[in-house]
Amino acid sequence: MKRASFKHVFFAALSILALSLSTRPFAAQGETVGVDRLYVLDCGIGHALDQSRWSPGVNVGVPMDVSDNCYLIHHARGYLLWDTGIGDAVAAMPDGLPGQNGAPSWRRQKTLVAQLEQLGVKPSDIRFVAVSHTHPDHIGNVELFPQAMLLVQRLEYEWPLPSGGARFNPEHPVTKLAGDYDVFGDGSVVILSTPGHTPGHQSLLVKLPKTGAVILSGDAAHFKDNWDNRRVPAFNTDKDQTLSSMQRIADLLAQNHAQLWINHDLAQTSQQKHAPDFYD
Ligand SMILES: [Zn+2]
Repeated sequence: MKRASFKHVFFAALSILALSLSTRPFAAQGETVGVDRLYVLDCGIGHALDQSRWSPGVNVGVPMDVSDNCYLIHHARGYLLWDTGIGDAVAAMPDGLPGQNGAPSWRRQKTLVAQLEQLGVKPSDIRFVAVSHTHPDHIGNVELFPQAMLLVQRLEYEWPLPSGGARFNPEHPVTKLAGDYDVFGDGSVVILSTPGHTPGHQSLLVKLPKTGAVILSGDAAHFKDNWDNRRVPAFNTDKDQTLSSMQRIADLLAQNHAQLWINHDLAQTSQQKHAPDFYD
């Protein structure tokens, strides 16, 4: 009787294992599993007095407006927020946040929290927060999601601020990455290591069922003309790395028949569907 019941449990366990293996999402290359929605969120508008801070020697002294997007991705295994924009507090500043040392000034038409709320998403519903890098227009709201697992390259996490301080709250749960990272394990949402703008800069490949593959640039390039001409801002931490990362993105775009969505390209952003509408 004891042996029979052991056998019974053993084979029951085996069949559960077999079932879980057979239903485990497995994506062949190009196939999409698990991810079904991508929302573009308005996370600020920047105004720079001189475009050439991003395009050395080109359009010197010409002002430029830039978008600042966050992207919310829904996967069967939870929400990933890609970049968090300029801080929500800026929405309450009538004249916005002034820029310093040539950096853009920022305005916010609506808060990130309000846009999530409109989607019925609470900050506590966000499972992962991944940031392309640690400039203020990307990490402004990380601490609105204190329980979310932060996905950031170790090199970025440990890169000291000019003041010597840390870039993140040391209490925030974090997975420090060393290269590419398949967030949900099925190939549908993959963080791409694309250093150069900063030491641990990263981009994101998302494979949507209908839209197809999209690469979210981070600040690997700031707008299309810079991308097309492979221009590197003078303040990037490594010019050669930046150029290699752009080439890597170009290769992945071709391999995946993907679109490149450039975070700060206002002309492109203006053409996109914004939340509550979404890409599927
Ligand atoms: Zn930026």
